[in-house]
Amino acid sequence: MAENCIFCKIIRGEIPSAKVYEDEYVLAFKDINPAAPVHVLVVPKQHIESLEALDEGNIQAVVPVHKAIQKVAELTGIKDKGYRVIVNCGSDAGQTVMHLHYHVLGGIKMGEKII
Ligand code: 5GP
Ligand code: ZN
Repeated sequence: MAENCIFCKIIRGEIPSAKVYEDEYVLAFKDINPAAPVHVLVVPKQHIESLEALDEGNIQAVVPVHKAIQKVAELTGIKDKGYRVIVNCGSDAGQTVMHLHYHVLGGIKMGEKII
């Protein structure tokens, strides 16, 4: 947990969110500024800054995230038609929140680019 991280605050319940799925390791909640009809952020509860911060000591945190993405797709009704998963890493990618998160986007036929 990081004191001032916005997603850690959401995980701790200090900032409200529209929760889609939660388990011991993962929280999934609706993006506040959706880029598609379904736009859910899936985050490990462990504070990891970005994909580049994954190492031997914390990489196990992404396994339940991937399982949770499947659950989110099912719960939001986008499993059958398909969905896109995006991880922004670093400034050129436009990462604005330094807590690893997976954007799950669906509910619309997507072209090459969505965000
Ligand atoms: P990034 O650009 O870092 O990959 O994505 C950060 C995402 O977090 C953005 O899509 C933004 O809309 C979302 N976001 C930022 N602050 C909040 C918040 O307080 N609540 C929710 N639900 N989403 C947020
Ligand atoms: Zn955090």
